[in-house]
Amino acid sequence: LQSRLQFPQLLQTESYIQGHWTSSDARYAVTNPASGEVLAQVAKSGAPQALDAVDAAATALVQWRSTTGKERAGVLRRWADLMLHHQDDLALILCTEQGKPLAEARGEVAYAASFLEWFGEEAKRANGDVIPSHKADARVLVLKQPVGVVAAITPWNFPLAMVTRKVGPALAAGCTVVLKPSEETPLSAHALAVLGELAGVPAGVLNVVSGDAQAIGEAWMQSPVVRKLSFTGSTRIGKLLMGQAAHTLKKVSLELGGNAPFIVFDDADIDAAVDGAMASKFRNTGQTCVCVNRFLVQDAVFEAFTQKLAQRVRALKVAPATEVGAEQGPLINTAALAKVERHVADAVAQGAQVLCGGQRHALGGTFYAPTVITGATTDMQMAQEETFGPVAACYRFTTEAQAIALANDTPFGLSAYFYSRDLARVWAVAEQLECGIVGVNEGIISTEIAPFGGVKESGQGREGSQYGIDDYMELKYVLMGGL
Ligand code: ADP
Repeated sequence: LQSRLQFPQLLQTESYIQGHWTSSDARYAVTNPASGEVLAQVAKSGAPQALDAVDAAATALVQWRSTTGKERAGVLRRWADLMLHHQDDLALILCTEQGKPLAEARGEVAYAASFLEWFGEEAKRANGDVIPSHKADARVLVLKQPVGVVAAITPWNFPLAMVTRKVGPALAAGCTVVLKPSEETPLSAHALAVLGELAGVPAGVLNVVSGDAQAIGEAWMQSPVVRKLSFTGSTRIGKLLMGQAAHTLKKVSLELGGNAPFIVFDDADIDAAVDGAMASKFRNTGQTCVCVNRFLVQDAVFEAFTQKLAQRVRALKVAPATEVGAEQGPLINTAALAKVERHVADAVAQGAQVLCGGQRHALGGTFYAPTVITGATTDMQMAQEETFGPVAACYRFTTEAQAIALANDTPFGLSAYFYSRDLARVWAVAEQLECGIVGVNEGIISTEIAPFGGVKESGQGREGSQYGIDDYMELKYVLMGGL
């Protein structure tokens, strides 16, 4: 991999603590999910390195939080620019360790850089407030201050964007960070740290430690110095970490699993709905937390929608990331493949019909054939859990009330989508869906300018947008009396 990079220094295998690449005897292999090829032996850090990183972040906090917003904005701006300058290399590292098609990986680099740019700009606008006083001789002020040392734990499905979506607002707010990227995709996070250093992120302001997830997580959650947890990943681990964070009452932001419905009403533009379905369901081979998990389709348009969808799905090009025209990659690992197989087998056993796919792809490894299933019912495993793979399961409904009840019949509430051309229905449905994000006549909703986050067991807190920096700031009320 290193020999194919224009800037080979981007490939780093050690943990990054206090501005140094810190080696460790314990190693683990990072592989290419498309081939199983070992890409690098990466330092397997544990609690001692995790605590060194916290010390470094605590020391660096003193200086960093007293810089001006404009200074921090400058660093974040340069960092974003460097990401775009090295877009090809970053995309290659990303898709090689993660599996998504190169074109999608390039898109992720730009998306990831956008969070650094956006939050750099926000650093200058973290305004406090002056409240009209309740007493003639007093003034009432509100200051916004950084929460302190932030622990960020990120997943493998967006190895760059999930990092910058946390590190961007944290650094903008004046916080310092200890980051644990997913053990599946540490190389992207390391490359980001290389560019951060070049952009002027001071030693200790960002520390990257990967390896033993449980040991690192426990060390950070037990530390009273860590004042905030920002986690993106599974609901199971999110709950575990929130419990651990409770002992020192850390501020917590969680972006967890979803079970996104995509409702096609009978007044929808069916071709537009199929476009949206393809974009939302099959992005990153179905491995995003806002990917559709349930297509709810009204009786009158069920046949038309599912047939058109299957036609498009059959035409998807499944291939390793760097092959020209690749649209669908491998799943991240064998556990992910096993889950998809289990869901499809369970659906078929309960009477679902497979319109296309329904089995592993001929490429072998963790490739799964893009699939469309009809006759799905709420008893099936795929109705209750996120499949996180390239499987479009279609359910039938008759009335609008049924669709809303079905959509909300889940403990999760991250994203939801629906297609309709009736304005009154659009408002009614958007307001009744229990979720944090709604796409109306649109399948792609992610952008740095809007608040991203869930309700119910999909988490709490919001990332991106003018609201995102608040998760990294505390309000301080100052009463000036005797004036
Ligand atoms: P997924 O199933 O999608 O891999 P996880 O929730 O397991 O989602 O992983 C998301 C992130 O959480 C990864 O960085 C992973 O290493 C980390 N993680 C997993 N288990 C723990 C744990 N016990 N403590 C802290 N972090 C963990």
